[in-house]
Parts: sequence; structure tokens; C-alpha cells
Amino acid sequence: MIKIEQVLQKDGKIFAVSSESPFYPDGKGGQLGDRGHIGDAKVFFVKESEGKFFHQIDRFIEPGEYPYQIDMERRKDIAAQHTAQHVLSAAFLKVADVQTVSFRMSEEFSTIDLDVPTLTHETLSEAEALANEVIRSCVQVEIINTTKEQANRMNLRKPLSEKVEEGFVRLVKIGDFDLSACAGFHVTNTGEIGCVKVVDWEKVKGSLTRVYFVAAERALKDYGKRVLVLKQLSTLLTSSIDEMVKRVESLLDKTKEQAGLIEKLAEALAVEQASKLPEIKIKDFKVAFYDGIDEVARFLPKYCSTDVLVCKTSEGYTISTKTIDCSKLVQILSKEFNCSGGGGKTKGSLKTSVKLEHFIESLSKVLEVIQ
Ligand SMILES: [Zn+2]
Repeated sequence: MIKIEQVLQKDGKIFAVSSESPFYPDGKGGQLGDRGHIGDAKVFFVKESEGKFFHQIDRFIEPGEYPYQIDMERRKDIAAQHTAQHVLSAAFLKVADVQTVSFRMSEEFSTIDLDVPTLTHETLSEAEALANEVIRSCVQVEIINTTKEQANRMNLRKPLSEKVEEGFVRLVKIGDFDLSACAGFHVTNTGEIGCVKVVDWEKVKGSLTRVYFVAAERALKDYGKRVLVLKQLSTLLTSSIDEMVKRVESLLDKTKEQAGLIEKLAEALAVEQASKLPEIKIKDFKVAFYDGIDEVARFLPKYCSTDVLVCKTSEGYTISTKTIDCSKLVQILSKEFNCSGGGGKTKGSLKTSVKLEHFIESLSKVLEVIQ
């Protein structure tokens, strides 16, 4: 039974508050929290704050005593990810003499921040291989409850934090491979983890390397996802997995080459079209129009000599002029069409889908009165 002392509603969320709880809180020691039920209410999240447990639940319940149920499958997954972290952290220390400074577990993957700005792929592979060797060796995982004083005399992977209060300390011992203080969930034998896989790494906070990993069922699920994606890519690229990087590189090179060619063709077309664009005269201004290809429209201002050039693009309109203040023109027209627009003295653009005739009509009215 769990004794709910208070039920709070905050920012549209409901919390059942208790002084003691069988639910492991989220974020404690980097670990995910428990899920389950309190009475009929589903528990989404558990927060521990100032000695109280705040269980976020899906419905309002009255304070009182309730039976509870904890999702043990989830606990099993959390235990496997957490022990995998201890094994992996110890492996990095043994292989590269690199200490883990923090650990975080999320619903899909976990991360450790290593006290090193860069890691080679070889080091990552070596540590991962050692961790998997330990996992496959089915090493017993023991929980040792001891005192702070005694713990400090033992060969801990990481010295106890100053913040640890005097009294009992919980240690997790993985054979002779690792010993560290931890309050989280763990498997009883490393064999239960199955495997651990590093899936990504990046430099964080200037001097640390964040390593992303998955273990147990999560690793298998992740592998399945990657196999599916690679299978799809392999079909799309008509290439084997081994050839894929080369194939994508060559496609990207080709795309770049084609983009350059399009630029050249667009400019050549703009040179040819610039003097042939339809023109009208509004007051003393010669206004030319272009309704065609965006890439050509980008080059036209360079080669068109009328007072104003209006190009219809896939996003709206661009205006270029050397005789009138273009920003003023855009400002009036964006108000008229109730659309966004911007630009400087000589160039501007408007995001609108109004028809060209309508645009010309409004532009004419503005040009009639503009100073
Ligand atoms: Zn731990």
C-alpha cells in the first residue's frame, strides 16, 4: 500500500504526493523512474523533491491509502541499461584511462559523459568489445551495503562524492571488473544484459565526449531499425551496404555539379531574356515583369535595365529597383496583401500567392502616388 497524503494540480498536471514511495524517482543517479499504477491511476513520472515523492498521475484521486503496482518489465530494462553503463564506464577506464563524469538514461538510449575531449573510433570499439566480453562472461553482480568509511578504503571506480552523507553506502560489485557506489537498479548477472552497443558520440561542454549506447532488448530493437533503414537505402541506391558511402558521395558530387550547371544556364537565360521582358509604363517608371523560373529570376536584376523589375517566384514576388526606395514599396504592398515581406533599398520580396494581374494592379496604384 502507498499512503497518498496530498493530491495537487499544477499546470494541468495531477500529482499524488507521499513521504515514502516504492516508486524509484526519475533522474536519481541518472536513472529513469518507475511507472505503474496507484489505485486505478496511471503513473507517468515520479519526482523526488525535498523529501517528498510527486507521482504524476492520469486522474484525480482522493488522499488515502492505495494498492500500487509497478511495471516490472520496465524495471528489468532499466536494470540492464544501468548495469551496462557500469560495465561500459569501467571498460573506458581500463582501455583509455578515461573517467565517466555523468550518466543519463532516457526512454530510447543512455549516455555517459567521458572526461576527454575526443575519442578515436578504435578506442570506442576497444572499450565496447571489452564491455561485451564481460557481459558474455556472465559475471555475478552483487550489492554491498557498507559504511562510507569502509567504502572509501575499497577500490572504487570513482571516489565517493563529498555530498555522500555518513552512514550506509550501497555499492555495486561486478566481479573483479568494477566496484562503484550506486542506488539504482541492476541485474544480478551480466549475462542478463545480452550486449551493449555504442550508437553515437559527440563532443560536449567543450572538453567532454558524450557516448550514446543501448543494451539488451533496446540494442536488438535498434539493430532491427538500422537493418530496415539500410535495406531501404540499399534498394534506393542500388548498392550493397559496403558500397553505400561511396555511392552517396558520388551522388552528392553529381548533385553539386548539376547545381553549378543550373546556375550557369539560368544566368545565360537571364541575359537572353532581360531585354525581352514584357514592360508597362506607370507614371514615369518603366516596369518589367517576369513569370518563370526562380533560378532565372535571381539573375534578372543584374541584366534588366528598367526602373522596376517584378519577378513572380514559387514563394511570391521579388522586386528590384534602382530608382525607388524598394523597402517602402514592399512595406506598402505587404500591408495591402496582408503578407510577410522584407528587403532593402534596391531589392525586396513578398510572400503571397496573389495573381500577377492583381499584383500589377496594386503596384500601379502605389507607383502612381509614391514620391
Ligand atoms: Zn549506477
